[in-house]
Amino acid sequence: MGDEAALDRVSTDFGGMIRRRPEAVLVPSAAADIAAVLRDGTPVTARGRGHSTHGKSLVDSGVVVDMAGLGAVHRVVPGYAVVDGGASWRTVVEATLPHGLTPPVVPDFLDLSVGGTLSLGGTSHVDNLLELEVVTGTGSVVTCAPGSDLFRAVLGGLGQCGIITRATIALVPAPEVVRRLNVRYPDTVALNAAQQELVLSGQCDYVEGLILQDDGWSQILEAFGDKDFTVSGNTVLTTPLLRVPDNRGQGIFP
Ligand SMILES: Cc1cc2nc3c(=O)[nH]c(=O)nc-3n(C[C@H](O)[C@H](O)[C@H](O)COP(=O)(O)OP(=O)(O)OC[C@H]3O[C@@H](n4cnc5c(N)ncnc54)[C@H](O)[C@@H]3O)c2cc1C
Repeated sequence: MGDEAALDRVSTDFGGMIRRRPEAVLVPSAAADIAAVLRDGTPVTARGRGHSTHGKSLVDSGVVVDMAGLGAVHRVVPGYAVVDGGASWRTVVEATLPHGLTPPVVPDFLDLSVGGTLSLGGTSHVDNLLELEVVTGTGSVVTCAPGSDLFRAVLGGLGQCGIITRATIALVPAPEVVRRLNVRYPDTVALNAAQQELVLSGQCDYVEGLILQDDGWSQILEAFGDKDFTVSGNTVLTTPLLRVPDNRGQGIFP
């Protein structure tokens, strides 16, 4: 694709500070399409959903590989799923939850791509990978596993050591219910103490703190778990019980 609208769409990113104009956008339908461009020697960048900042998914006068072209989930079986590098985490959980399965870790924003997150995002995702298919800089399509140099290099590699075209992600049984706690604290000292209490007590699967400015500053603790949990000295704003099967379209932790 080389039309103006397509080029505009991939000329900037979530940060919105950098603009780079590619010559073309490749929407691959197979790893071989990416391999062919890389063998050409053209400057190439992979783009998942462009939710990174400072131009990491942008290229001047080169080719943007729009990984959304490879966005499928190929296999879901007990223990693992095989997914395309351009699949969003939402697509992944929508495919696994009907089987009562989930990746052990997903980003809180499910519309990021698997490949983009593995190349830049949370380290916890990379601990739950069994295998990767990667297109190397010389245009070879290689399958690699934990322990290999290529596997280590592409994780957190910003697409500089290869483009992830498939990932085999470990799956665990999905909880049947999820409790979400949303608590507002008067200051950051109280917020930190509550976070520490929850983490040390091991009552929750996930604990997050947000400091937001609305009418003044708000310190908010958010926590998720599949059992009831309590934390001292707080005001509970919401505690909805989310039934996973009823929330498939939104993922487990919407
Ligand atoms: C609103 C928001 C919420 C977020 N929440 C979380 C979160 O909960 N957990 C978390 O871990 N991170 C989170 N992040 C950070 C996020 O993981 C990274 O910004 C991630 O890179 C975004 O994925 P993307 O698909 O948009 O990647 P892009 O921005 O498109 O790409 C990021 C980098 O990876 C490279 N790349 C993209 N796809 C591939 C591929 N298939 N193979 C090799 N390289 C590739 C790109 O070239 C670029 O260097 C969040 C970001 C935002 C904006």
